[in-house]
Amino acid sequence: MSTSKKDIRALTKEQLRNFFVSQGDKAFRGNQVYEWLWQKSAHSFEEMTNISKETRQMLEDHFVINHIRVDTMQRSSDGTIKNAVKLHDGLVVESVLIPTATRTTACVSSQVGCSLDCRFCATARLKRMRNLNPDEIYDQVVAIDNESRLYHNRPLSNIVFMGMGEPLMNYNNVLKAIDKITSDEGLGMSPKRIVVSTSGVPKMIKKIADDGVKFKLAVSLHSAIDEVRTSIMPFNETFPLADLREALEYWYAKTKNRITYEYVVWKGINDQRKDVDALVQFCKFAPSKVNLIEYNPIDDGEFQQADSRAIDMYQKILEANNITVTIRRSRGKDIDAACGQLANKS
Ligand code: SAH
Repeated sequence: MSTSKKDIRALTKEQLRNFFVSQGDKAFRGNQVYEWLWQKSAHSFEEMTNISKETRQMLEDHFVINHIRVDTMQRSSDGTIKNAVKLHDGLVVESVLIPTATRTTACVSSQVGCSLDCRFCATARLKRMRNLNPDEIYDQVVAIDNESRLYHNRPLSNIVFMGMGEPLMNYNNVLKAIDKITSDEGLGMSPKRIVVSTSGVPKMIKKIADDGVKFKLAVSLHSAIDEVRTSIMPFNETFPLADLREALEYWYAKTKNRITYEYVVWKGINDQRKDVDALVQFCKFAPSKVNLIEYNPIDDGEFQQADSRAIDMYQKILEANNITVTIRRSRGKDIDAACGQLANKS
């Protein structure tokens, strides 16, 4: 449970150094503790063995370390692992380890629940409770990295923000977490191995372009026709495709980075020629890649994966228009760990 003591990881390195000076100690002590907190991901002050007992007690009196706790871990027959992660206030989010032959990807959450209302997504049924703090995002990555080393004998290689929540609606904390993940004082990972996936918040897409971020952007499009998109992603009413497109043009002009679109093809919703044509029109202003994701049914059968002819049609037409296409099979379905299935079921 949380206490009235301050979470020590909310402090910057400078603040931590200043704290030690204010206690009559050396600023350098702040560096040591900072290293324990981030690089070594200590769960308690007790672990900080190069700090004196008295100092550790003093830290204990002032601060807490609100580390996440992996509450349950489920392993799929295909090697996928899903963590249900308990936060200091008892709330739970999920993160997933996805292994392939050459890499291990962590799929992490950015919010508890989600405020968007995508009709095909299980997380949308949990209302948004709160944003995750930077350290709660960081801890999910560390937990997956440890599991990757333990079960797959290699470190984590990639991160996708495709778990619960809309990362661009918790942008400041996501950015702080990424800063730590990519810093040599944290995990030292390359930002090029991080993908932030968004439903498309135009104002925030422009902001990240202005901020000169180095991570990659993926946009969950699912339809390039307003009427269709609004029917499956109602917030499209507020952020229509023209605004999204304008923001993406801005992003491309600033970053010159290819844009990736996430796209599920559903029977009777977006499986016709006109849907593909609209997608081609939408994408063509910049080099693009479309990930055709397999649909993971979340219940009543209102949505059904389109048949393979429709997928083939998408692939042919997109490729004929120089748009890169990948067809992504789902992983971890037997443990409800696939895209859109994260709903704290366990
Ligand atoms: N809010 C962010 C990140 C979370 S969703 C976003 O929208 O991008 C991660 C991806 O899973 C998105 O592309 C989303 O559209 C997709 N998704 C959601 N539910 C799904 C389902 N049932 N089957 C397949 N993909 C789904």
